[in-house]
Amino acid sequence: MAKIFCVANQKGGVGKTTTAVNLAAGLAKVGQRVLLIDLDPQGNATTGSGVDKRTLQRTLYDVLLESASIAEIRVQSEKLKSGGCSYDVVGANRDLAGAEVELVDVERRETRLRQALAVADADYDFVLIDCPPSLSMLTLNGLCSAHGVIVPMQCEYFALEGLTDLVNTIRQVKANLNNDLQIIGLLRVMFDPRITLQQQVSDQLKAHFGDKVFDAVIPRNVRLAEAPSYGLPGVVFDPSSKGAQAYVAFAQEMVARVQSM
Ligand code: ADP
Ligand code: MG
Repeated sequence: MAKIFCVANQKGGVGKTTTAVNLAAGLAKVGQRVLLIDLDPQGNATTGSGVDKRTLQRTLYDVLLESASIAEIRVQSEKLKSGGCSYDVVGANRDLAGAEVELVDVERRETRLRQALAVADADYDFVLIDCPPSLSMLTLNGLCSAHGVIVPMQCEYFALEGLTDLVNTIRQVKANLNNDLQIIGLLRVMFDPRITLQQQVSDQLKAHFGDKVFDAVIPRNVRLAEAPSYGLPGVVFDPSSKGAQAYVAFAQEMVARVQSM
């Protein structure tokens, strides 16, 4: 049975999608079977995995509306196959924004993804869910499906404020809908050790959250930002870059953490 993780943070632009696609590629690189689910109507994880979101016939939308199974929807990018870091993708595009509205009146609306995963997760070691930047019905579907949450964050002052909201949401979901749910860890991303404030916030994080802060630190690295325009995770686009190496180290750390879960 796969371990299922949401990459979540209700702030936008904090590195969720970059983390989701590069962790997926990093895990594949170290021999894990991975499914990446794009839960954001922006479809960035889809594009960043080399899948054209405009030509997708069916997407996660169809899974949430129960008109298709994950096995029918998942795809794999040809480019990733040749890069040796291949993983399956359940893609998303703008259609997914409609699911939010269409699910309002249906039963079991927050557990649609969990049910779809229950019949697909035996094929994988890891399922990663790239969440949208909100605490919406879509995110709730992700949180209800997962064993844990990976929280990417930049070491800035406001990052800590946003974290309180996310921690409270996770606590509520755990109490009411998904008893398994926990924060697996906080991942420091876009890190620049030359900036004193970032060092200070990083120290504060470690003081507050202890070993919930991952050892791996993802540096600010332009190769990670360039990779999506080639439809590739940074880990595949430039494996020797500092950013790619950091994400592979993070993948190894995740494999070790899962063994002790
Ligand atoms: P989110 O999914 O949380 O909105 P993204 O992963 O899309 O965030 O990242 C926001 C922007 O920051 C993107 O342009 C991305 O390429 C860039 N970015 C993310 N991580 C890094 C990094 N470690 N170094 C440099 N740029 C990064
Ligand atoms: Mg994103």
